[in-house]
Amino acid sequence: MIIGAGPAGIAAAFEAKKAGLDHVVIERGLIGNTIYNYPVGLTVFSTTNELEFIEGDLKPAREKPTREELLSYYVRFVLDNELNIRTEEKVLSIEREGRPAKLQSLREEGFKVATDKGEYLAKNVLFAIGAMDHPRKLGVPGEDLPKVFDHFRETYPWVKKKALIVGGGNSAGEAALFLAQEGAETTLAIFRDDWENTDPKQGCIKYWVKQPLEDELKEHCLKLFFLGKVIGIREGEVELESESGDRVVLENDVVFVLIGSDADLTMLKNLGVETEQGKHGEVPVYDPETFETNVPGIYVAGHFTHQRHIKGAIDAAKTLVPLIAAKLRANASTEAQKRTATDL
Ligand SMILES: Cc1cc2nc3c(=O)[nH]c(=O)nc-3n(C[C@H](O)[C@H](O)[C@H](O)COP(=O)(O)OP(=O)(O)OC[C@H]3O[C@@H](n4cnc5c(N)ncnc54)[C@H](O)[C@@H]3O)c2cc1C
Repeated sequence: MIIGAGPAGIAAAFEAKKAGLDHVVIERGLIGNTIYNYPVGLTVFSTTNELEFIEGDLKPAREKPTREELLSYYVRFVLDNELNIRTEEKVLSIEREGRPAKLQSLREEGFKVATDKGEYLAKNVLFAIGAMDHPRKLGVPGEDLPKVFDHFRETYPWVKKKALIVGGGNSAGEAALFLAQEGAETTLAIFRDDWENTDPKQGCIKYWVKQPLEDELKEHCLKLFFLGKVIGIREGEVELESESGDRVVLENDVVFVLIGSDADLTMLKNLGVETEQGKHGEVPVYDPETFETNVPGIYVAGHFTHQRHIKGAIDAAKTLVPLIAAKLRANASTEAQKRTATDL
């Protein structure tokens, strides 16, 4: 059972098919759902070799693919390879099953997986669920107003409108750039440390986003606000506190709060999977060689682990599925030997 059809889940399904494993991918949204939710027309920051399942397969028009080219590649890959992916079906819960009837002959524990459309029995479960479940909140009054969004989709509804972006990473930088370039009156509210950060490992704004943002600043199409904190959001305005403690009220039509998101680890924790604090939040504890957690048969790959980018997600799946196949083959042959011994 593979949960999630992002790059990790698709790569795992491809490997499972190659290894002849009986498998299914359950995806609550669409194939490549996280990429589908990227801003329209975005050029991704990775190069093709970091995004493709087979070397040389992804052929964008320019050096790096757009959202549309990447999504089209992932969808075509699934269709051309006839991968067994069930979309618009959500995994709701997973329970350990001590030798369920259908698995009895295998003499191993398995898992009962309940979705909103049915139930499955699985010997191994790969969580490839990404980390988009819980967008982080500011926790300020007015954050639930309809003009406040936790992800940025496209510019055109906001042309000539007063837009505020709160955030310090690449997604916030890209949204500010899209909005400023296409004629929204844009303010980026950012901590000075985030604006001045140039370390890609710390999740800084990439230089090819930062450079044009600086150009927009010079041309007065973008305003930068060095943030202390957001005080509140109201119809028609926002109240901010600057890094020096001054309060300002800005006229405002739309707010994008782009400060990251966290995975939902509830199902993993309910199974007894241990977690730890990673660089960007809570992550499951797993063996970096096998990607198996402390619960035998439960594996993790992708964005909500220590490998947050697409290359790491694909590489993890490519490593762990052959290991599962080898384990299953070894178990099957031990079982066969035991049966022969009993028969004799
Ligand atoms: C705007 C933006 C640009 C980015 N650009 C890049 C880039 O250039 N390069 C790069 O390497 N990374 C980039 N990233 C990060 C990249 O998107 C992730 O690293 C990548 O999606 C991880 O793949 P994944 O398979 O682990 O998770 P995801 O792609 O998030 O896939 C997880 C899937 O699991 C599904 N799912 C979750 N829970 C359930 C459930 N209970 N039941 C069923 N299905 C479920 C989700 O719907 C989702 O489709 C970017 C991210 C954003 C937001």
